[in-house]
Amino acid sequence: MSGADEVAQAMQKAGKVIATSHVNPDGDGVGSLLAATVFLQDAGKTVFSCLPDLRKYPPQYEFLPGREALLEPEALPESCDVFLALDCSNLSRLEPLEKAFRSAALTVNVDHHEDNTFFADVNYVDPTASSTAELVYRIAEAASWRLDGRAATCLYAGLVTDTGGFRHRNATPSAFMLAAKLAAAGVDVQGVAREIYESQSLPYTRLLGIALTRTQWEDDLRLVFSYVTQADLAETGATLAETEDLIDHLRRVKGAAVVALFKELADGSVRVSLRSGDRLEVGPIARLLGGGGHAMAAGYTTSKDLENSIVELKDALRDRHA
Ligand code: 5GP
Ligand code: MN
Repeated sequence: MSGADEVAQAMQKAGKVIATSHVNPDGDGVGSLLAATVFLQDAGKTVFSCLPDLRKYPPQYEFLPGREALLEPEALPESCDVFLALDCSNLSRLEPLEKAFRSAALTVNVDHHEDNTFFADVNYVDPTASSTAELVYRIAEAASWRLDGRAATCLYAGLVTDTGGFRHRNATPSAFMLAAKLAAAGVDVQGVAREIYESQSLPYTRLLGIALTRTQWEDDLRLVFSYVTQADLAETGATLAETEDLIDHLRRVKGAAVVALFKELADGSVRVSLRSGDRLEVGPIARLLGGGGHAMAAGYTTSKDLENSIVELKDALRDRHA
């Protein structure tokens, strides 16, 4: 039995499901979660969908079907038949939800991160999949759930963002085939692109300008980096939740081996996003510094302040080069 069949069977048996994704959710986290929500609701299940911190819900995904169903962790029931974690590589990615996870009769982990820790009872993990959305599609097929325009739109949002608009290494033939099926199911491809890529706020546009002006180049490491401070957020009125694509702008610099963006959090700690410019894999570097992710896109959070977190990354990269 394939992983998709196993998850489909578990879902078919369940009455009450809690579904979630990771902290600082991205397009694939939100898209796969909302697609699963729509599928499960249509299948007659009682679904409690939530995120570890709903306040950090990225505004560019507000338009997605099923968004209105998302709950705060406090609103979850005491127990459930199945706890479904989507796009989470380990348990700490859904930290405030650990109690709900432990109280579930069955836990299910659906993910495509290569560093997934197989933390659940049922683990459907496929690092060759373009996105967790692709895995949710396979589960829906195995369960014979009907693909309507709503679920298709959520899956497409996950697919298009995790492949960087079909530009990354994970834009595989099967990713393109899935895109065709989703388009045929009624996705407004232009509308989704407009919502995700052409609806940024004026405050974030200004923040982007500040961050781009600060871009630095570290010659020996071929490192391109910039940073965003709490003062920048206060000055522009932007929020960190809207900055998901900021690093993609830094990624456009020719010749970079590693691209990094440092984001100062409210408590002074720093969240670091890493992208691989060429062949150097950033996943192992993120893991070394306490985080994780994919080979070409990874991240971590450090308790160091902004200045020292930049030093920390440079040191880690130098150690790797040496
Ligand atoms: P981003 O830089 O967009 O926040 O994250 C890039 C990738 O790295 C995503 O797949 C994300 O799930 C993963 N990632 C980011 N931060 C962490 C972290 O602290 N721990 C783990 N395990 N993965 C992370
Ligand atoms: Mn993903």
